[in-house]
Amino acid sequence: MARPTASSLWLGELCPASHVLPQVRETNEGQAFGTAIHKYAELAPQIGKERALAAIPEEMRERCGELDPTSLPAGNREVPIEYDLEHGEARLLDVTDRAYPKREGCVYGTIDVLQIQRQSVWDYKSGWPGSANESLQLAALGLFAARALRWDEVTVGHLRIDGERLRLDFHLLSGIELAAVHARIKSILARYEGAKSQEIPDVYPGDHCTMCPAMPACPATTAMIRQVSEAMAEESRVAAMVEADPVGAWTFLERAGDALDRLRAELKRRASMAPIDLGNGKQLRILDVEKKTIDGKRGLPILRDTIPDVDALCSVSKTRLEKALGKRNANVVMQRLEAAGAVETNTEHHLRKVAAKEP
Ligand code: SF4
Repeated sequence: MARPTASSLWLGELCPASHVLPQVRETNEGQAFGTAIHKYAELAPQIGKERALAAIPEEMRERCGELDPTSLPAGNREVPIEYDLEHGEARLLDVTDRAYPKREGCVYGTIDVLQIQRQSVWDYKSGWPGSANESLQLAALGLFAARALRWDEVTVGHLRIDGERLRLDFHLLSGIELAAVHARIKSILARYEGAKSQEIPDVYPGDHCTMCPAMPACPATTAMIRQVSEAMAEESRVAAMVEADPVGAWTFLERAGDALDRLRAELKRRASMAPIDLGNGKQLRILDVEKKTIDGKRGLPILRDTIPDVDALCSVSKTRLEKALGKRNANVVMQRLEAAGAVETNTEHHLRKVAAKEP
């Protein structure tokens, strides 16, 4: 179980079970970028761009480095805060890495940039997070800050990371709005407590399920997967399903796709810890697959040497080279490309069914 925090209240509101069922945290590329850019934005104004870049994963440096540190606002950075729901009081905490004390009846959050003089709370966001005036996370953080610092109103906003500079989107929360946010959070937490007391919590599936860390353990996911396998068992049932309700069939397809993606992700996570025995002399394992990408600019002179009509191709990969030149010649060309620094190698981790290995 994981009590909702400022950033997850929205999901807890749509489906309290999302915080009661076991959660599986995975980091996709977008989340990895989000973590890296937060770190960079926290450190760059204090220790300078180069040292801040050195503190984040190498693969994130180029993209994070696009953001000019001089565009970052002044203020207190990464400020953890505790909100006591019963008394409507808040206090700033002295903890790092979101190691909140988890006191009964309290909700927690971290403010990316707190500007005390300006009575403002800012949150970095990559991509499109929705409008600031609709964000429950911003409203919650604004309420926490207002109560901790005795403000009557507070400006809350997104600092959207978009290339070199930040885009601002903000909203002024009045005293009445702050009172409404308090009531809303109280109701979310009450529903969460209610779900905790159920043996199997009620679930409320919807588009939000794609963002739910409890999806692998969710009864709605299991039911969806069962429905898919039953529908696929008979061709005629699929046709009848689409005929009877095409819109419902499409919604079903979208949700089933998400559920199956989650199923795959969970199998991948388990297989990365230990191979999964399939009981028929086969195992599910994670295999590392090297992927080579050819840099068009550096590689083109070499490729023009070997493939006369290479300019007509949209992209060139090792497989295409093998098709055009045969495996042996393609290897020679790949070696030349690698020596010229025109090949980028990445390792991907694939879930594969393979013959079981001897213990
Ligand atoms: S997957 Fe959807 S229905 Fe299931 S717990 Fe999460 S939000 Fe609720």
